[in-house]
Amino acid sequence: MSSLYTNSNDSKVSLTIEQARTQVIWYAIATYERDGRTAAGIVVDGALYDAEALLARTGGANVPLDVDTLVAHWDATSAATLADLERAARAVAEGTAGVAPQAGYRLQVPFTPRRIFAAASNYYEHAREMGTELAPREESTPYMFMKAETSVVPTLADVVMPAEAQRVDWEVELAVVIGRGGRHIAVADAFEHVAGYTVLNDVSARDLNRRTDYPFKHDWFRGKSFDTFGPFGPWLVPRACIAEPQNLRMRLAVNGETMQDGSTSEMIFSIAEQIHYLSSILTLQPGDVIATGTPTGVGMGRGIFLKPGDVMVASIDGIGAIENALVRA
Ligand code: ZN
Repeated sequence: MSSLYTNSNDSKVSLTIEQARTQVIWYAIATYERDGRTAAGIVVDGALYDAEALLARTGGANVPLDVDTLVAHWDATSAATLADLERAARAVAEGTAGVAPQAGYRLQVPFTPRRIFAAASNYYEHAREMGTELAPREESTPYMFMKAETSVVPTLADVVMPAEAQRVDWEVELAVVIGRGGRHIAVADAFEHVAGYTVLNDVSARDLNRRTDYPFKHDWFRGKSFDTFGPFGPWLVPRACIAEPQNLRMRLAVNGETMQDGSTSEMIFSIAEQIHYLSSILTLQPGDVIATGTPTGVGMGRGIFLKPGDVMVASIDGIGAIENALVRA
């Protein structure tokens, strides 16, 4: 129980008792670019290894070597694939892999989301800071909207502030990745449909979220779907590596100052309830991403907004951190 796994940016991820008991090795699946080549990577102890090279040494014939394909076929291949990936990660952790970590690489988005569903107002304190009056939970269901999947950018990519936006804001969110599709998924079965987790910064132009030229007050599609408004990553952590997804500390800092510091334990509608709700409307598909809502501490609630040059770091314990600077178009 003494081991610590390090992810990016030096944040320590301690093993939970349950993980230690079941001997789960923490690892993540990444997509990286180096010298013009894009490839899959496996992250262990904060270092990134080329998946192909690592699996060649540890016997991973089952693994498709691009993460889009891996996620798209997650359920069909998951048992064999996860065994291969976990064996490779274990070999690294035990020092028997014989493969050097990569240097000089650039992380890409871990995979291209099929769709992005996002929960509005899913934390009570955040609802309060936004002046949102909610019905009692028992009389309510999740409020989901769609954010364009083309908005995603990797860590260290710039977020481009459109010329027409003045009030650009941050939102750290746990992103749940669907690995097994389905319709009418019961709450009790929901996690069987989860491939893993990553971080999404649901960047929002608050002024463009509002409309006065229509009787409809909100236009979240517009305010949240601009190119680059979805910093996403840094990598995909398989479900088995996160013992308590409903108890993860999540933070967002701007220029080093912590703005959001919450926990996924504060969600109004849980991950499982969101999966259940969405699957009552449509068939969830592998590669779909659910951005599960943001805790209190956004700029809107503080009366401050991002300026060009500001740097956001969105992080979730047990997953990792993404860093993105704002630039003017
Ligand atoms: Zn959001």
